[in-house]
This record gives sequence, structure tokens and C-alpha cells, in this order.
Amino acid sequence: MTSEVSTPMLTGGCLCGAVKYAVADAFRYAMNCHCSNCRRTTGSAFKSFAGIERDRLRITEGDEAALIYGDEAAHDVHCGTCGSLLYSVVREGTYVHVAMGTLMDEPTIRPSMHIFVGSKAKWHEITDDLPQYDEFPD
Ligand SMILES: [Zn+2]
Ligand SMILES: [Zn+2]
Repeated sequence: MTSEVSTPMLTGGCLCGAVKYAVADAFRYAMNCHCSNCRRTTGSAFKSFAGIERDRLRITEGDEAALIYGDEAAHDVHCGTCGSLLYSVVREGTYVHVAMGTLMDEPTIRPSMHIFVGSKAKWHEITDDLPQYDEFPD
């Protein structure tokens, strides 16, 4: 068992550098979400995200520059200057889903599945062998 203290921390941040965060390299799961919300908020074919308990992530720089979209229990945190989506607060406020593209350090975890494939962009073809689910797996 590794203690909380020795868990490596990863740094992440937005495009313009105004907002930075630190998160423990102890993600519980990671997925590629193809839903239309994830496509629109990232401008990408899908969003790779990694989930972890909310208290294991903290904003280290630019707290006042963060833009919150949503309510307390479920919201997206963007940089208010450049608009990057950094992470989302989910599951009644207990977890965060980090947008993996904003990580500057390499996490240990890898996305293990594709979700909401039923609503994926028609112009995007999934070419890996990871399991695919039409919505969220049971
Ligand atoms: Zn920014
Ligand atoms: Zn999604």
C-alpha cells in the first residue's frame, strides 16, 4: 500500500496557462466519451476523461480565472480566459472527471472503453479494440 503522501501528483492546465491544477495519479477509471456534450465542449470527436474523488484535485493557480458552467453538484470548470475545459464535477459533487487532454504530465491510467458510442460523430471511426457501449455501461 502506498500512502496518500507518496502518491505522485500530476499537473494540468488550460491553453493560455491562467488556470493550473494538481491531481493525484490515482484515477479510478478512464473512458472515451462520444456523447454530443463532450464533443461540443471540447470541439473534438470524443473526450478522454479520467475519474477520481473530488478532494484529490485542487486548483493550484488561477482559481479566480476559472469559469464554472452548471450548478454546485454537477458542473464543468473551464478557464475563463481561453475556454479550455479542465474538468467536470460529477456524481453529486463527489467525483471529478478530468479532461485528459489538459494533463501536462502522463497519468498511469489509460482509457479502457468507449461510451455513448450510439451518439458518436458519424465522421469519426473508432479503430482500436477497446469495448464499445451505446450509452453508459451497467
Ligand atoms: Zn486559459
Ligand atoms: Zn460525454
